[in-house]
Amino acid sequence: MLKNKACFVSIDVEYDIRGEVGLTNKILDIFNKYESPATLFVTGEALEKYREQVASWGRNHEIACHSYTHRFWNTLNHEQRTKELADFIALYKDVFQKEPIGFRAPSHVIDDDGIKLLEEKGFLYDSSIVPHYPPFKKYRGYRGKAPLLPYYPKGKKILEIPNAGQILGIPLAAAWVAKLPILVYKTLFIIHKPMFITLSMHSWDASSPRYLKKLDEILKILKKAGYQFQNGKQILANQK
Ligand SMILES: [Zn+2]
Repeated sequence: MLKNKACFVSIDVEYDIRGEVGLTNKILDIFNKYESPATLFVTGEALEKYREQVASWGRNHEIACHSYTHRFWNTLNHEQRTKELADFIALYKDVFQKEPIGFRAPSHVIDDDGIKLLEEKGFLYDSSIVPHYPPFKKYRGYRGKAPLLPYYPKGKKILEIPNAGQILGIPLAAAWVAKLPILVYKTLFIIHKPMFITLSMHSWDASSPRYLKKLDEILKILKKAGYQFQNGKQILANQK
């Protein structure tokens, strides 16, 4: 159960065209300033290529799975999905000497088969579901209404940490964060006060100084409004 207002802080680390993965450090500098632990959902390809870098992030933050190749799961069959996870787990064990416990689907595309497969592979939480989405934008992973707080889907032992916390149906993802004025966030965090918020972004968002400034301001408002920053592992532990 959530006792305090919580904010799940996460970064998706995937493609790297101009060294964006390295830019993740700029985001982590801001998280460190607010003493915020984070979960980095890393693809197997990024972990393979930036092994040392990701291992060093893993010392202060949680490293979780963002599939191996970032192909969307609506284009993969059961065997292909299984291979994505098995390859990731093998590499992760080699780097960290333990198994990953968290997963986020590429582009948030997940279904019941996917959730069941994650459970079978030993994952303890998933953070793919977006419980609300702006009506004007098509969302590939849409599954209808879902809870706004972390929950166990019916009959499952795997925790779902939804991408919750929104403004006019727009999730708190970086693409939107850079566009909306800070006053809108103040209204959400201080007046609307959702119990649970997921703040998600991509490593490449750090290439925008404007985004970094906005992120800093948002964390400052959240902290002042009494939100506790947590990574997936901590949210999972607090469910017990
Ligand atoms: Zn992604």
